[in-house]
Order: sequence, then structure tokens, then C-alpha cells
Amino acid sequence: MQFQYWNERIEKMPRAELEVLQLDRLRAEIGFALRTPFYRERLAAAGIAGPGDIHSLDDLRKIPFTGKSDLRQGFPYGFLSIPRHDVVRLHASSGTTGIPTTIYFSRDDIKNWTDNMARCIYGAGCTKDDVFQNMISYGLFTGGLGLHQGGEEIGMMVIPSGSGNTARQFKLMQDFGTTVVHATPSFLLHVETKMKEAGVARESLSLKKAFAGAEPYSEDTRRRIEGLLDIDVYNSYGLSEMNGPSVAFECQCKDGMHIWEDGYIAEIINPDTLEPAADGEVGELVLTILCREATPILRYRTRDLTGFYTEPCPCGRTHRRLRRIRGRSDDMLIINGVNVFPSQIEEVIMGMKEVGNNYLIVVEKDGAMDRLTVKTEIGEDIFMDDSRPLNALKERIMQTLQVSISIRPHVELHEGGALPVSEGKAIRVQDLRPKDI
Ligand code: ADP
Ligand code: ZN
Repeated sequence: MQFQYWNERIEKMPRAELEVLQLDRLRAEIGFALRTPFYRERLAAAGIAGPGDIHSLDDLRKIPFTGKSDLRQGFPYGFLSIPRHDVVRLHASSGTTGIPTTIYFSRDDIKNWTDNMARCIYGAGCTKDDVFQNMISYGLFTGGLGLHQGGEEIGMMVIPSGSGNTARQFKLMQDFGTTVVHATPSFLLHVETKMKEAGVARESLSLKKAFAGAEPYSEDTRRRIEGLLDIDVYNSYGLSEMNGPSVAFECQCKDGMHIWEDGYIAEIINPDTLEPAADGEVGELVLTILCREATPILRYRTRDLTGFYTEPCPCGRTHRRLRRIRGRSDDMLIINGVNVFPSQIEEVIMGMKEVGNNYLIVVEKDGAMDRLTVKTEIGEDIFMDDSRPLNALKERIMQTLQVSISIRPHVELHEGGALPVSEGKAIRVQDLRPKDI
């Protein structure tokens, strides 16, 4: 495979050199942090009065973790480290798990973010000949402008189509010969269903690639999207607290996401003991940003569960690769005492070709017990009025899920297109149990 690099020197920098760069940038970031009311207090309590108190990367561990609740408490300006008049932009998280948090950018911060984003897109094999349709929401959400800026930086023609409205998306793709799209994985699955409905022929499109991120999805879902749309799908990871997309992205090998270690220090910890996880082990990702001056955030507990690949990538980049994000530690459902990750359920049902492109997990109280129902759409080869194959499919889903999650769920089958589709991040879990128990 012919690999291409946006910034070859940095992307292939020997690890020892990369670590020297990280230490340098960590010190600078601590300098910025000490200008914020929040970190002035936190760092002083940890015995860090200035950048000079950081002698090696190991000293990072002296710094206490920062959590989402800290960011919320610091709202609106508790984490701002430069004068307000030097801020050129603000973004906010989508607020999936509560009140959104705000992040500020200086002009240089936007430049760094754009450069990291360009590295991701170029590294996935795109060039200025590509036409890039950004089918994700713009606005405060970082996914829209993030990929948009990166695409422009490379010189692709960017179509800021935003999310939703599949009919208009198809029209744009046909009129302008879109070759690359960016969307949530759930929207990409929905696009394929809509394409069939609207009678849009695959041959009328020039699509080659998609970037999919913003929510967890399994390898089976990737393969399904790739098969249905006949494209390559690249995993894209980021969070607004760390700029948004561009934190980690798959290269042309499509096997784990390179995290840009000149811009971030990544740690994996055991979320219970808070100790570092063993090499390659899955745990909670903790990130320190090194490429932003306006909002320094140190040792941020992302709640995202992942691990590092231990082997180097064939592409030659030295920046380590993250495994597919399994979900957030707070996504975990406890059903009749058994721990279940929604991603385990997704993996099973998206791996079955008779199952359609959408599903929903519902947890309710049934007397004293919890009741888990998995609702899925059926594939187009199965008909709602033929009960024999339907019952057989239902039974097979129940049994396979039982093996994977140790609970026998109820299964409901629905016609294609019958389950709700969200325009932003998909809502896959409805936990209807009373909260105060
Ligand atoms: P919110 O935290 O409100 O959802 P963000 O829009 O910043 O706000 O979302 C970031 C989160 O989205 C990440 O912490 C992660 O949980 C999820 N996420 C983003 N990209 C991916 C991906 N490629 N795979 C799995 N989860 C992802
Ligand atoms: Zn690679």
C-alpha cells in the first residue's frame, strides 16, 4: 500500500524524540494551566508551582485527574487561560450525559486543531481531488467545523451539508460527485436504507470513503456499512474537551486509531483503582491536551473504555493506536445484577445478516426484576407476514445474545424503517427504570 503523510516528520518521529517534545509541551501547558483559577488551586495542592516542577513525563502522575464535573463547576470561564479578547471561538460538548461543557480556542489553537485534522484526513488517503460532504451537525458540536476545516486545509472541495435530510444529501452527492462523507455510523446505516427507498442507484454515486465517529460502533457495523455502500469506513475519535475530532483516527490500514501524541498525552487507567492499566489492557482513557493554550485540560478522565495496540502499525507512524472504543464506563447497564455493555448487544445483532440496520435496547422494571428488550429491524429478505422465519430469527437472536451477555432478552422484530432514527448521536438505549432505586 502507498501511504501518504501530511506531516511526515512528526507522524514518523522516533518515540524518544516524541517524548522529549511531549515533555516540552507539557511544561508549556502547565504554564497556561496555572493562569486558570481552577488549576492554580489544584496544582498548588499537588506541589506544582510552575513548569519547572515537572522533570520528566512520569511527573504527570503528580497531577490530579480532571473530571467532567470539574469542567461544569468551572463554567463559564474557570478554565480560560488567555484574555477573553484573544479567544476566537467557543465550542461545547453535545451534552449526552448532562450539562454541556465549553471549550475556548485562540487563533493558534484553531490552527493546531486544523493541522491535526488534516493529518487524519490525508492519512486516510484523501487528496485535493476529493469532494467531501460533511453530513454531521455544524454549530457548537465540534464534529461539523472540525472535519470541515481539516478538509479545506487539504484542499478538498468541502460541502457543508450538515446532518439529516437524506433526499438532499443524495442530490448533492449526485450533482457534485461526492467521494468522501463524514457521518455518525447510525446515519450511514440509515442512508443505505433511504437510498433503496428513494431508488438511488449506487452507480449514480462516486462514493469511495466515509469517516464515521462520534458514537461507539462495532467492527461488524463497520463491515456492514462498507458492504452496503461499497466504501471504506475509517473510525474517527474525539471529544470536545480535547478539541473534538482529530484526537485519534484510522490510517489506510484501518486497524486502530493513531492518537496524535505530539498533541496529547494518553494514559489508560483502571477506572476502579485509578492505577495505570497493563500494556495493551482495556481501561479508561485519560487525556492531557498539549496543543491548546486557551483551555488547558490536564489528565481528563474521558470515561471512554479502550486500550493501546502493542504492535507498531505497518504505515510507519510512531504514534500509538487506540482500539475501537467499547463505550463509556457510564454506559454500562446493570440488569438483574449482570453488567452489560450496549456494544456487546450491538456486536451480536449487527453480525447477523437477517437483521436490518437499526435497533433499540429497552430496560424496564417488571415487578422486582429488570426486563431487557432488544428491538431490531428485520432485513429485506424476510417478510413480516411469514411467521416461521420470523420466529426462528427471534429465537436465534435470543440464544446468541444469551451466550454473549448471560441474560436471555426479549426480542421484538420490526419492519425496516420502523424504529426511530436520530439526526445527531443515536439514542440506542432507553433505560425506563425508576432512577431513585
Ligand atoms: P458528549 O460527551 O456530550 O457526547 P462530545 O460531542 O464531545 O460530547 O462527544 C465525545 C464522546 O463521543 C466521546 O467521549 C466518546 O464517548 C464518543 N465518541 C466519539 N467518537 C467516537 C468513536 N469513534 N467511537 C466511539 N465513541 C466515540
Ligand atoms: Zn497506521
